[in-house]
Amino acid sequence: MKLNASNELKSRLAHAAENGSGIARDILAELKKNVDVTEIVRGFYNHFSTKRKRTSCDGFQKIRIVFTACNKDLANEHFPDRNNPQAPLFPENRVDMEPSTFIKLFKNLPEYPETDMAYFASAICVDSKVTVRLLEGMQNIYEAYDGDNYSPIADDITSSLHNSCMRYPEKARNAADFYANFAGAKILVARDGSNNVLGRAIVWENVRCPGNGYGLDTVSLTDRMYSSHAFVIRMMQNEARRLGILLRRKFNDCQHSNEFVALSSPRGTGLAAGQELQQALIVDVPAFRWHKKGVPYMDTFYSIAIKDGKIELRNYQGDGQIAICRNTGGNATRHNSVCPGCGRLHDNPDRIFCSPCRSSLYTSTVFGEVIKGTAREYKGKVYPSVLFKKGRPIPPFRTYLQMEKLFMA
Ligand SMILES: [Zn+2]
Repeated sequence: MKLNASNELKSRLAHAAENGSGIARDILAELKKNVDVTEIVRGFYNHFSTKRKRTSCDGFQKIRIVFTACNKDLANEHFPDRNNPQAPLFPENRVDMEPSTFIKLFKNLPEYPETDMAYFASAICVDSKVTVRLLEGMQNIYEAYDGDNYSPIADDITSSLHNSCMRYPEKARNAADFYANFAGAKILVARDGSNNVLGRAIVWENVRCPGNGYGLDTVSLTDRMYSSHAFVIRMMQNEARRLGILLRRKFNDCQHSNEFVALSSPRGTGLAAGQELQQALIVDVPAFRWHKKGVPYMDTFYSIAIKDGKIELRNYQGDGQIAICRNTGGNATRHNSVCPGCGRLHDNPDRIFCSPCRSSLYTSTVFGEVIKGTAREYKGKVYPSVLFKKGRPIPPFRTYLQMEKLFMA
């Protein structure tokens, strides 16, 4: 008898192979052999199919795939359903098995490493071709963050995508506004054939890495990867490598912000592919005039600082720090304020101006301290006119206004 497999099983294998599972590819090749099933499979196993094991979670379903098969010796004279053509399909004549057990039934296939077995078990859960793309712009980032666009299924209840704190519309809005209009970051997005999002990771280019011992001027890196299925992480890493992105996060978590793994080994550097490194990194914030409000929770570049009048995102805390992006409310946590009069930093959250500016701008009256001079309107709000020159905000005031947007949820 020839090997018999259900259409869903064959479709899942074909998609898993397309999505990078070598084991799925090998099994498909076995299925296509025009030989007796006993030359391919151990024991009496045949009539293979797949079954979905569902667990309902908050906003999605965990679906794991188990394989099923008839394991009876149909020709045995003691087999009760002998000669019944439906025999292999009766549930009582079938067994469920884990993906790893299914793989091991194929007698011509080699022993596979544990990582390949896990990849197969995850990839078999997605019956669709997955495509990973590098995208930019506010709309693309918003769509990748908005939970309504996520795949309705995951391979684990702990799905980092479905549990992401930035999945709600107003949080996704602030994340997209910040990454596109303030930080100048891009995004790697994995989608299935129906355009459901299965994974995403922010991509940083032209990142400075002061004091590295590898002769690198700047690096590119993928930030923490969020995914519905484990294998999608590997797909995103492979695509990042293909695109020439140099580093990825060593751990997909919100700690370990300075630990990375090299995806490749660029010529002229002492860096080997797979090499682990700890590194302080700095993103020079580009032109950011269109940023309107808010910040996301940041896994890597969580510290916003000012150095020599220029704004930096850092993966460490240090001098000149203005804000920390480590809350899930959609805005930054204040550490220092920029004085709109002179641009100096001060840490008195109750005051707008630094002490020197305060003494020169304010005058004491019997009714208390008042700002000298006149007032003028700017973008619907009234400010002291000393903060304008020729009708335009002076540079420190412009920086002040820009920084204040970080604290708006
Ligand atoms: Zn000042």
